[in-house]
Amino acid sequence: MPTKYILVTGGVTSSLGKGIICASLGRLLVARGLNVTVQKLDPYINVDPGTMNPYEHGEVYVTDDGAETDLDLGHYERFLDIKTSQQNNVTTGRIYYDVITKERRGVYLGKTVQVIPHITDEIKSHVINLGESGNYDIVIVEIGGTVGDIESLPYIEAMRQLKYEVGRENTLSIHLTLVPYLAAARELKTKPTQHSVKTLSESGLSPDILVCRSEHSLDTSIRGKIAQFCNVDIEDVIASLDAESIYEVPLLMQKEGLDKRVIQKLNLTTSEPDLERWISFVDKIKYPSANVKIALVGKYVEHHDSYKSIVEALIHGGAANDAKVNIKWVQSETLNAQNIEKYLGDVSGILVAPGFGDRGVEGKFRAVKYARENEIPFFGICLGMQSAVVEFARNVAGMEGANSTEFVKDTEFPVIDLMLEQKNVKDKGGTMRLGKYACSLKKGTKAALAYGIDSVDERHRHRYELNNALREDLQSAGLVVSGVNPEKDLVEIVELADHPWFVGVQFHPELRSTVYNPHPLFISFVAASIAARAKREEEPVAESTAE
Ligand code: GLN
Repeated sequence: MPTKYILVTGGVTSSLGKGIICASLGRLLVARGLNVTVQKLDPYINVDPGTMNPYEHGEVYVTDDGAETDLDLGHYERFLDIKTSQQNNVTTGRIYYDVITKERRGVYLGKTVQVIPHITDEIKSHVINLGESGNYDIVIVEIGGTVGDIESLPYIEAMRQLKYEVGRENTLSIHLTLVPYLAAARELKTKPTQHSVKTLSESGLSPDILVCRSEHSLDTSIRGKIAQFCNVDIEDVIASLDAESIYEVPLLMQKEGLDKRVIQKLNLTTSEPDLERWISFVDKIKYPSANVKIALVGKYVEHHDSYKSIVEALIHGGAANDAKVNIKWVQSETLNAQNIEKYLGDVSGILVAPGFGDRGVEGKFRAVKYARENEIPFFGICLGMQSAVVEFARNVAGMEGANSTEFVKDTEFPVIDLMLEQKNVKDKGGTMRLGKYACSLKKGTKAALAYGIDSVDERHRHRYELNNALREDLQSAGLVVSGVNPEKDLVEIVELADHPWFVGVQFHPELRSTVYNPHPLFISFVAASIAARAKREEEPVAESTAE
């Protein structure tokens, strides 16, 4: 069977949740036994989002093969339980980079290089190469941006051509729009959808299915109106109402018949979707047996998308413990000796987040100290782990003024330092230690117990490492090194033995947590926080930065 391509565009406005719709449709098709992947086409000129500020873009999602990608790839992996790679995320920057590299090599044999056909051909080849690389039944192609944007035009044109090339029977176009409710008129308005479909159609790509985001349900007459003016069948007008949790969206889409229509239109025959596990997961997050409050200490806390995968991994870890994790967002910059009790006095677990640069790091060190001294379960991720090492060095190992050379170049005790191969790196894009590396676990440690195996692979995104020159001193002061990369002898996990649960990881476990495979360290951390809860949450603390 040839690979089928589902092209998903968005109109009217951004932030309609196109990524979640793609991931949800993907889940439904996987649940029908199909081999599916999802690709994100991003119209910006950065080669990848790796150099972008988290306020600008949200989290950078890293794949096994070390690609720094859009955070929607995280949704695809979590929903479909698949692995994505560099191939799953294409940006305008990447396309132009490849085309210009080819031009310099003389590949175009004297031709004038133009948007059409060279850029559009390059886009198409990225899509088709992905389809062919994994023998996929279906590739869902999410086109970033909003129809009508100048920068989206080459993508829409490329998709129009793709439809022609791989055959109309092998493609399907889904358009996601907004149906706003005007309170003054007490009416849902279909005009923005009509205009959006018109703009899309003018570019040669008319929708086969419309997914209409709305805050109110769409009755038959509204659906009929949309169908009539947008040239689709009434069954192809799918309502997407706000959901309490993103994990409910696949079930809502199934109720609306999205997967059924897709299957019919692509002439596929499959079994009905098997969603038993998904439904039981959604039940667990909707009706938890317990609640637990965990502080997320970071410097981008005003922008929750910066920590997207951590938030989701806490939900997965919570569900595995039949509990709901309530995140208390704590701005590390504001933490000081006087207010720490106010911010962290009522939480049962403390997670210190990844990050770059020195803003807010002293607050992170303080949060670590508070967790260590008060025996509160602590989970440090990347910079959070490095913070744990600095705090331990300063306050337990007697290395006064210890620091990471990321923050103080000439510190007397550089317990976190650049690896040799990073020292001469000048370029910022794609030059960190990125992607999957092995980690051998030390028997009997909390990490080994949580994983239940001897060796794991985890994803990385950092330049600095625990300094091996000071490792022995730290270990003799009591720091347990429970995970090491066997090839380079780099410290991957540190923990404390005489503490209920204190684990710092140099890698990013959150990137590997999915609905069907919640991450063992998150499960174990949430379990330890639940165990600490009774003691910690007795006395609520007056003020906080909690939502
Ligand atoms: N800034 C630190 C480093 O580069 C940590 C990075 C991170 O937390 N992802 O090593």
